[in-house]
Amino acid sequence: MLQTVIIGAGVMGLSIARQLNHKGRHIHIIDRSTPRMNASYAAGGMLGAQNEFFEDTPLYRLAMASRAMMPETAEQLRKETHMDIELQTYGLIKVATCAAHMPDVEKQFAFLSSQDHAIYQLTPAQLRQRFPNCDTETCAAFKIHDDGQINANLYTQALLQSVAKRPHIDLHLHTEVMHITQTDDHYHIATSRGVFYADQLIIAAGAWSGTLLKQLDIELPTQPVKGDVKLIESDYTGLKETIFNMNGCYIVPKKPNRFLIGATSELDNWSTHNNPTNIRWLDQESLHMIPALRQHRVIKTWTGIRPITPDGIPIMGAIRPNLYVSTGHYRNGILLSPIVGQLMAQLIDGNSNAKKQLLPFSPIK
Ligand SMILES: Cc1cc2nc3c(=O)[nH]c(=O)nc-3n(C[C@H](O)[C@H](O)[C@H](O)COP(=O)(O)OP(=O)(O)OC[C@H]3O[C@@H](n4cnc5c(N)ncnc54)[C@H](O)[C@@H]3O)c2cc1C
Repeated sequence: MLQTVIIGAGVMGLSIARQLNHKGRHIHIIDRSTPRMNASYAAGGMLGAQNEFFEDTPLYRLAMASRAMMPETAEQLRKETHMDIELQTYGLIKVATCAAHMPDVEKQFAFLSSQDHAIYQLTPAQLRQRFPNCDTETCAAFKIHDDGQINANLYTQALLQSVAKRPHIDLHLHTEVMHITQTDDHYHIATSRGVFYADQLIIAAGAWSGTLLKQLDIELPTQPVKGDVKLIESDYTGLKETIFNMNGCYIVPKKPNRFLIGATSELDNWSTHNNPTNIRWLDQESLHMIPALRQHRVIKTWTGIRPITPDGIPIMGAIRPNLYVSTGHYRNGILLSPIVGQLMAQLIDGNSNAKKQLLPFSPIK
């Protein structure tokens, strides 16, 4: 029986495991389960397939295809685990609240509206109504209808439950990978709970993927981008869409009457502690956009570490025979996970079409 080991039980590792063919294969998923050192539980959950892009690229196309897969993924997870991942489809408003960001809004609107006629600019009256603090001379916004959102934390938990139910998958949580070696075409994975043997090894360890691959003398640069996040509760009922400011601050309405406010972006910062200055910035920017949220109760704050590559493009594919990687999804790992899970699993199972689709993201450039 083929032994496949996946390092990382974030949305990438779990989505791949769910889709892998299980005939003649046993899958082990290993994760150290350290709080705040797993981006998937920390994410805003936006399915920003259009929000995140300014031009037509292979990644934009994957993102659009993956967003379209999320309703079915949510339904499958509900059937398998009885968990509701809180898919909401009220759209997203992209806004510039200062003159410096207006050209970016115009550029992105020009691209997106050339692809999708359901994207429209807010009129000055709509801007004043939605963003009462904004001067319409120095503000601009457009609405994306189809960028929905989910509860990323529940989604990751549901994926975990889904794989835990499968007889051909063993989950090894609270297990840290210490060292990996290769002998012939097999891998030995030394962990805090013993040694695993793999015919196939998949590295889906988020921002830590590069460090693990170094042990096999493979240089694959992945960097951390730390984010601070805050969750509040408010009686305000006037906001259903996600609001995303060009300066990076966003407000994602969550159930019930909660608002997730994110997120700072600090490259090369591995800290898992909230920085009070960053939290103040989130407060200031979110209340500038939606002053009606001033009366609120803080539920909690947290941090997460996103994996990024030097050119911002994820790395997905085979590095050597029977060694695969999927990382570097930066701000879009939740959105991309349904299609990445499918394509990576197909690639590992030898599907040439998946190999072709993943070619722009190959670790071997
Ligand atoms: C603040 C924030 C907001 C975000 N918002 C969004 C959003 O709105 N929409 C969106 O699409 N994406 C968003 N993202 C990005 C998204 O969360 C990530 O791209 C995605 O979760 C990455 O998934 P992953 O499985 O690659 O990594 P992770 O979730 O980090 O999982 C990697 C796993 O590897 C394990 N691991 C690492 N090293 C070892 C080791 N040595 N031994 C054992 N286990 C190990 C870790 O424990 C971890 O569980 C956000 C991220 C952050 C931090």
